[in-house]
Amino acid sequence: MRRFLAPLALSAALAGPAWGAAPPPAGAPERPAALQVAATTTDLKALVEEVGGERVQVESLAGATHDPHAIEIKPGQIARLKRSALLVRIGLDHEPWLARVVATAGEARLAPGGPGDLDVSKTIALLQSETPRLRADRRAHVHAFGNPHYWLDPENARAMTAAILERLARLRPEERAAFAANRERFLARLDAGLARWTRALAPYRGTRAVVVHESWPYFAERFGIAIVAAIEPTPGVPPSPATLAELEQRMKASRVRLIIAEPYSDASLLRQVAARSGARAVTLIPSVGADPSAGDYIALFDVNVKRLADALASP
Ligand SMILES: [Zn+2]
Repeated sequence: MRRFLAPLALSAALAGPAWGAAPPPAGAPERPAALQVAATTTDLKALVEEVGGERVQVESLAGATHDPHAIEIKPGQIARLKRSALLVRIGLDHEPWLARVVATAGEARLAPGGPGDLDVSKTIALLQSETPRLRADRRAHVHAFGNPHYWLDPENARAMTAAILERLARLRPEERAAFAANRERFLARLDAGLARWTRALAPYRGTRAVVVHESWPYFAERFGIAIVAAIEPTPGVPPSPATLAELEQRMKASRVRLIIAEPYSDASLLRQVAARSGARAVTLIPSVGADPSAGDYIALFDVNVKRLADALASP
């Protein structure tokens, strides 16, 4: 729904002050301006908007189709961050670019542990947290502290929106009831979605898949897909020809039918692995907005479940 914000704001500006918000009735308290929130991803932005509704104005620092390894922040975004009351982030090593951005903004409240910092990973039971990884390059996104792609289990949205609700209510105590009501409405849609998605993927439980990047363990665990290997030998690291050849042989031998890729995956590499292994590649979208039909958090799963079910249904 936020997609329509920009055109509306433009027409309001063109039409002049008559189109502005109506003045509050005499004696009524004026509603405070929308709370300014920065989120690192479009998924977090979508969840903050579900809870905050019209009482928040949220910007995502990363775009929807970004590769989390490479983010370029523009000066305008730093200015916007400085004005934000709250910075909502995935945490772990998902945002290796963020420390520099927060330091540039120079607002101590947004630094890790500050009153305006919300690390959502603290509320989640992480997967792959036992995997020790070398961190030779501090900027690499290597899942060194557990897998950070936890927003891709829709059940995790319960804990995520609970954390967002608590923080928004701390910043705007008088609006706690409105935030809580928004969250309840979202959770009702989420429950309906979970029933729908589980039903759609039920025939394919136990399907074995290879992923390009380890983005999907939460999604796979929720819906019964078994991820048997990743094309990247270590998250963020491309495979060597030797590891690739060995993987293709293993896929063929164990009849893995499915490769799950992202929009920014290497297309020629995918074609090669698919052709040599006999598996079918499906591109799932890891974030809200990465496809025009995935405009909010619920739609993200509608799109991905449909793509996956379509790929598995075809002979
Ligand atoms: Zn990752």
